[in-house]
Amino acid sequence: MGENRESQEAFVTLATNDTYALGCLVLAHSLRRVGTTRKLVVMVSVGVSDSVRGQLGSVFDQIVPVNVLDSSDTCNLALLGRPDLSVTFTKFHCWRLTQFKKCVFMDADTLVIRNIDDLFDREELSAAPDAGWPDCFNSGVFVFEPSEDTYKKLLDYAVTAGSFDGGDQGLLNLFFKNWATEDIKKHLPFTYNVVSQAFYSYLPAFKQFYDNIKVVHFIGAVKPWHHSFNVTTRTVTPLPSTGHSQEFLQVWWDIFMESVQPYLDPQLTLSFQT
Ligand code: UDP
Ligand code: MN
Repeated sequence: MGENRESQEAFVTLATNDTYALGCLVLAHSLRRVGTTRKLVVMVSVGVSDSVRGQLGSVFDQIVPVNVLDSSDTCNLALLGRPDLSVTFTKFHCWRLTQFKKCVFMDADTLVIRNIDDLFDREELSAAPDAGWPDCFNSGVFVFEPSEDTYKKLLDYAVTAGSFDGGDQGLLNLFFKNWATEDIKKHLPFTYNVVSQAFYSYLPAFKQFYDNIKVVHFIGAVKPWHHSFNVTTRTVTPLPSTGHSQEFLQVWWDIFMESVQPYLDPQLTLSFQT
């Protein structure tokens, strides 16, 4: 019975280009390292090259091609200074993965430190509070139940109501609007999505609960692959004022250098440096 259930549950991530795909690769290897028993699925759009798709295929169980959705809300996105986030609407395709009963969506900029398979005991929509506005959930890690019906409702909602931040998080928080007050079981502990700001905004808590951290999320414009890595000392030097924790960046880079970088197509020109 357990085995059957496990094959109907999956971790799902998304990449619209080769750079974010690097994040997906590190994420998948981090999930394998902690011994997940669930399927790993990556949604990719046309921006992901064939060679990177090949590499994704060596660690993910399924690669699902998707179209890029645009929120056509460029004004709001421009306000946020993150026009790149319009592609996050593509995330909603995850609700169409109806070959699975339950899934956990994870951003490509997340890193799993400890096993989180217990998340599949939670219901839709379970997520952790956003550090910037804790009455909203952060949409980088969430438990959902695939359904064509929910997918259609989400798109309808996107067209009629729009998103208050122009990205998926604003829209998902309006759509699942009772999350903040209705059911405490749908509030994941913050340790399931520790955003990088927390490292500097509440350092004592970060130290106190360090051993409980399960998922680290490198939010913001600077991603782990933008930091510089010294191949001689095998250490990462964090860029100034990103608030990223050196320790977790090092974990990300160790996985990248061991399990991803050696197998990259040398012809690839990626927008990161080592
Ligand atoms: N994403 C992508 N291509 C992009 C931007 C985003 O594939 O150009 C996907 C990727 O999975 C990423 C997620 O959408 O992790 C959300 O974007 P991001 O993590 O950059 O947003 P943040 O967490 O910084 O708000
Ligand atoms: Mn993210």
